[in-house]
Amino acid sequence: MRVRFAPSPTGHLHVGNARTALFNWLLARGSKGAFVLRIEDTDVERSTGASEQAILEDLRWLELHWDEGPDVGGPYGPYRQSERLYLYRSYADRLIRESHAYYCFCSAEQLEADRKQHIRLGRPPRYSGRCRAIPPDQAQSRVEAGEPAVVRFKVPERDRVAFEDVVRGEVSFSMEVIGDPVLLKSDGRPAYNFAVVIDDALMEVTHVVRGEDHISNTPRQVLLYEALGLTPPKFAHLALVLGPDHTPLSKRHGATSVAEFRANGYLPEALVNYLALIGWSPGSGQEVLPAAELAERFSLEAVGHSAGIFDEEKLAWVNRHYLRSADPGRVAELLMPYLCNAGYATAPDARGLEFLTGVVSMVTSAVDRLDQAPRRLRFLFEFDPKVSLRDPEVQSILNHPGARQVIEALARELAGVSRLTRDSFREMAARVRQQTGQKGKALFHPIRIALTGEAGGPELDLAIPALEKGAELPAGSGIAPVLGCRERAAAFVRHLPRPESP
Ligand code: GLU
Repeated sequence: MRVRFAPSPTGHLHVGNARTALFNWLLARGSKGAFVLRIEDTDVERSTGASEQAILEDLRWLELHWDEGPDVGGPYGPYRQSERLYLYRSYADRLIRESHAYYCFCSAEQLEADRKQHIRLGRPPRYSGRCRAIPPDQAQSRVEAGEPAVVRFKVPERDRVAFEDVVRGEVSFSMEVIGDPVLLKSDGRPAYNFAVVIDDALMEVTHVVRGEDHISNTPRQVLLYEALGLTPPKFAHLALVLGPDHTPLSKRHGATSVAEFRANGYLPEALVNYLALIGWSPGSGQEVLPAAELAERFSLEAVGHSAGIFDEEKLAWVNRHYLRSADPGRVAELLMPYLCNAGYATAPDARGLEFLTGVVSMVTSAVDRLDQAPRRLRFLFEFDPKVSLRDPEVQSILNHPGARQVIEALARELAGVSRLTRDSFREMAARVRQQTGQKGKALFHPIRIALTGEAGGPELDLAIPALEKGAELPAGSGIAPVLGCRERAAAFVRHLPRPESP
């Protein structure tokens, strides 16, 4: 099996296209076949090298590695259409020689006038076929004299064209809607429908798996295979990915490009796993599966033909799963851009990274995405009793009788001990409990507020040791300063409102 992903480098990689790439990759890996990457850059106005690079980078990030492509080469290259123009030219010449194609000299104005006329007469607005009548030797001389011309395919006379689609079954189009399509433009660049046929044929692609938006192109491609005497590949058109309102997934729905999902802090394996579940199911009720396992189970026949809805909540659910099972050192590295952006880290050294690795579980137990991590870790770096005391939740906890005594006792206790560990924190909390008679929430809520400045957050058993470790980090560790528990409790006591006089 040889499959290909053929992006046009005209922008970012959309998640819908990433899913097309993934389905091709799953097929290739599941069948020990080849996954080919071909860059369809014949639209000079819209294609850019930067977009090609970005698409390659996104595919690499998703770990959808290709066996042949513009960067790695391969036996069927070149893999960039702009480098294959000589091939399209030679096949166009062959089609002209064999009377399957002809030169067309119609001007843009003439074509537009024809189109309007067809619409007025209630006919499909297709090319009239005017230049079919020009004798080939005359056409050839006009071209040699420098007259601009396109090459058009002479579509055969018949009623319908049909093909078998692996996902959708038999698909049939009336020839009424198919005018003679342009194969080569006047500048020698191929039209999509022509280049794609030549490339898929020469690259010996066995299965063309692409978005349903291309289904109306396929009959033209099938006719071209016939004219060239080539066997067409198997076609599979994937239903589009829609937003929750059942319109094609677009900016209006939020993030749409792989780059945006990456920036928002999704893990690549989570995005891959989730995209595989749109329109396909690995069966046996299991949904969270690594890519290699998905490839083992994948089959085109099992792909649904109704549109898939992109459900970001489900993606978040898959992401949480992968975040929790990811190696904490890797997550710490992945957190860096978010923490740097929040001002919580600059380039950390080994100690700084070790510290961050230690706080990863506080993040992964509570967030859907890495971009939510700074909020979760804010208590480490931003401590300001004045700000905390303005929070209504904090105020309501501190209004409890006894809360003040707890914080005062806490500050006294902390003044006399060295940095806390989880165990010494527990012992100290027990002493505060004895001194104040407060227990449970009445004990731990005020302690949390005085030490983290927040009414909620990670378990104190994790938060307290993290604060103390942070406070011990040397200045050059690349981590923003963390105030220790002793200093926090003392500062909080100073800012507590005066007790109301009895
Ligand atoms: N370049 C086309 C696109 O990006 C590829 C279509 C195809 O797979 O045939 O939509």
